[in-house]
Amino acid sequence: MLFPIEISTHSRTELVDITEEIRKVIKKSGVHSGTCIIYVPHTTAAITINENYDPSVCEDIVTTLNRLVPHSVHYAHTEGNADAHIKAAIIGSSRTVFFEDGKILFGTWQGIFFCEFDGPRRRKVLVKVLKD
Ligand code: ZN
Repeated sequence: MLFPIEISTHSRTELVDITEEIRKVIKKSGVHSGTCIIYVPHTTAAITINENYDPSVCEDIVTTLNRLVPHSVHYAHTEGNADAHIKAAIIGSSRTVFFEDGKILFGTWQGIFFCEFDGPRRRKVLVKVLKD
């Protein structure tokens, strides 16, 4: 089953915690145990899994990506968002999680994040739920 989710971002670069949305999708699917694939059909956004307890972790990820791949240096791609494409390529466009009895098999501090690199925008995330 495929479930599209819409997300509004509010900054050029930000990580948005979508863990609750993914939990809701799994619940809505009616599947108790299986695999969930979270994918972004965009070239300047990504999906990652990391700590969602202390927000300074996301802040450090954004700060470090901006330092590694600055927005305003010369790139061959002249649309003005070359850095966003590179950041999206580094992080990747999908993640996979397992769930049992409706519960995502996370470590204690893990959450799922939509990574915006060329916002603010209206974005789409595609979530595929596969039954065991
Ligand atoms: Zn571009």
